[in-house]
Amino acid sequence: MTYLKTTPTREGFFGSYGGAVLPPPLEPHFAEIREAYDRISKSADFIRELRYIRTHFQGRPTPVSYLRNLSDLCGGAQIYAKREDLNHTGAHKLNHCMAEGLLAKFMGKTKLMAETGAGQHGVALATAAAYFGMECEIHMGEIDIAKEAPNVTRMKLLGATVVPVSFGGRSLKEAVDSCFESYIAQADHALFAIGSVVGPHPFPMMVRNFQHVVGVEAREQFLDMTGELPDMVAACVGGGSNAMGIFSGFIEDDVALYGVEPAGTSSNLGDHAASIAYGEDGDIHGFRTIVLKDAKGEPAPVHTVASGLDYPGVGPEHAHLHRSGRVTYTTADDTEALKAFFELSRREGIIPALESAHAVAFAMREARANPGKSILVNLSGRGDKDIDYVTETFGFGEAL
Ligand SMILES: *Cc1c(COP(=O)(O)O)cnc(C)c1O
Repeated sequence: MTYLKTTPTREGFFGSYGGAVLPPPLEPHFAEIREAYDRISKSADFIRELRYIRTHFQGRPTPVSYLRNLSDLCGGAQIYAKREDLNHTGAHKLNHCMAEGLLAKFMGKTKLMAETGAGQHGVALATAAAYFGMECEIHMGEIDIAKEAPNVTRMKLLGATVVPVSFGGRSLKEAVDSCFESYIAQADHALFAIGSVVGPHPFPMMVRNFQHVVGVEAREQFLDMTGELPDMVAACVGGGSNAMGIFSGFIEDDVALYGVEPAGTSSNLGDHAASIAYGEDGDIHGFRTIVLKDAKGEPAPVHTVASGLDYPGVGPEHAHLHRSGRVTYTTADDTEALKAFFELSRREGIIPALESAHAVAFAMREARANPGKSILVNLSGRGDKDIDYVTETFGFGEAL
């Protein structure tokens, strides 16, 4: 486990990416989080309670399923899926939200705070807050509130306060600014809980380490099922937390790792959210990474059919793993993801999240070219949240 122990550096650098560029009022609070994480997360009490939660609340371990019908359809490699769709609340996000909530509890905090875009992170964090008996404050742009009504209802049912953000573009970027401002005023009793392997140090490292359980389980389960390691492991990449979770289990092995970014509708800026494929080095939200920038050098508008992947940057560790060559980054577009969504539903009885469908699309494409090989896909979440949008827009896939 040399890689995970030595990456990132003490200052939070993955090669030349990562770090923490913070406004002065936030510096002491991030120093507190860094110190608390180092001290608490390795303690026997923390590990014991997190294990208990994973088993008795989240439903871990999630299984690995062999996708026989999909493999037969593609006629090449054997395709397997790590079933994070079966995690409580239906996605991998709860892995780091429960751990962040537990960290808050050990720090003596009474409140969890975050921004959310499509609302998935907000729902996972509100779930953790309810479990720990904490307050929860979620900042969300007014545009997203209108688009994602069911998730707003879920957060409220779970007891969270949803703060509508009404300035600027009224979306994710403004929600981040709004939440940081509110957090500065409450940091003595609140913990800011970032929703992916992004943001200033220590979040990219912390969230990866909380997602590591996915890769550890998957490696052992795959060995158990087949007697060997998979040849290829694939995951979709928005911020990159589900991908880092599964990759980190195989990073020291002779296993090819693939990150799949959303290619949207075209390669024109604004039509996709494939930061590594089309972006350049830059800063976003307090850390250095690969960013999609507009003509003015600001984070560019992005599009993908999967709202959980629409971020104009990527976790700094992915930028590093791309530059080092350890992980290959590729893309799947909206149409490929939708086709994979329908095929997995119909052939395997698993309705995937549109985000996860990008990784399934990659596996279907690669399977044909790799007979005799095995591909393990991280199925990051279930697609119940997507069925109304998909069927209203694309019917049952007849025209794809
Ligand atoms: C949020 C989300 C993603 C994208 O986040 P990552 O940090 O890139 O993993 C992927 N899949 C599902 C189901 C999600 O909810």
